[in-house]
Amino acid sequence: MCALQVNALASLDTLWSKRPLIISGPCSAETRTQVTETALRLKATGKVDMLRAGIWKPRTKPGLFEGVGRKGLPWLQEARELTGLPIMVEVATARQVEEALAHQIDVLWIGARTTVNPFSVQEVADALAGVSIPVFIKNPINPDLELWAGAVERIERSGIKNIGLIHRGFSTFSQTPYRNAPLWHLAIEMKLRFPKLVFINDPSHICGRRDLLGEVMQRAIDLDVDGLMIESHIQPEQAWSDAAQQVTPEVLATLLSELVWRSEDSSSDAYHSALDQLRQQINQLDEEVLQLLARRMQVAEQIATYKQENNITILQAGRWQEIMERTLRRAGELQLSRTFITQYLDALHMESISHQQQILDKNKPTAG
Ligand code: PEP
Ligand code: MN
Repeated sequence: MCALQVNALASLDTLWSKRPLIISGPCSAETRTQVTETALRLKATGKVDMLRAGIWKPRTKPGLFEGVGRKGLPWLQEARELTGLPIMVEVATARQVEEALAHQIDVLWIGARTTVNPFSVQEVADALAGVSIPVFIKNPINPDLELWAGAVERIERSGIKNIGLIHRGFSTFSQTPYRNAPLWHLAIEMKLRFPKLVFINDPSHICGRRDLLGEVMQRAIDLDVDGLMIESHIQPEQAWSDAAQQVTPEVLATLLSELVWRSEDSSSDAYHSALDQLRQQINQLDEEVLQLLARRMQVAEQIATYKQENNITILQAGRWQEIMERTLRRAGELQLSRTFITQYLDALHMESISHQQQILDKNKPTAG
């Protein structure tokens, strides 16, 4: 192993704990010059820690550019020699893992189209057995946290110690301005499930268009992500893949400099005591909401008893419709979003029906 590679690898452990960790590079490696020039210009910004590039591109439809393949790996090695930036590629098969390792790639990532498939993830995991290399796992295309968590477990079981998560948004049917809906609540849940893993946001694949990048980057760092992976290209409009979402290294530097980095904590006493008071209020309010919900269920149970005595079904669509309409109208006046209140009412209704069902089951007449 040459000295430069040793240096790159030695600094990788330090980098793993660097905050924020900024990864950038083209969606796809296209030519040697494109890779090395992007790397040099990224390095010149002084804001980028790792160089990414897709070598094998899993495309949704055939006929699109599917990556330059293994011949692009030496271009990345050259870019690392020129800049000292560790290099990172996507792998989806055992063969790709072997080729990446043979070219001393520093970091690997598993793409969204691979995370959806446990067979593929297992194949990659098996190829990684006994290897020491950091691996990032992107969320699966569909909003399914179990698949994402399953991929983490498979890679963990292969003995990989440094695992990171990349939130790149999800494919949904709902209309959003994004290419992939961020569904922030799922990202938060995954971050809470795996608090020790490095958690990165990929605004490029969420946005699908460069004009939205800034706001998504800010939103992500406000949720305290550990870093960002953003696609960059020397001529974004001419990119062979994902042209609409890439930015030049210089535009990336501007976007990064415009971000407001808020710290998760502050050492100021005034801040802590103000926050403590507000948190106590929240705890108190949560307690009251719980008490009210419990009382609401008790009333629903009393209603169930009457319904049973009079032989009436639990579900009465008309009555529920009336509750929905009234609550949604009132919620609007109270600045509570329709989406939130609809989800809340659905959950409330299910719980209420289940309480009523228990009453009916308990008092069921015995046969005979
Ligand atoms: C990529 O990072 O270029 C890529 C293919 O991303 P994803 O797997 O998130 O679609
Ligand atoms: Mn891409």
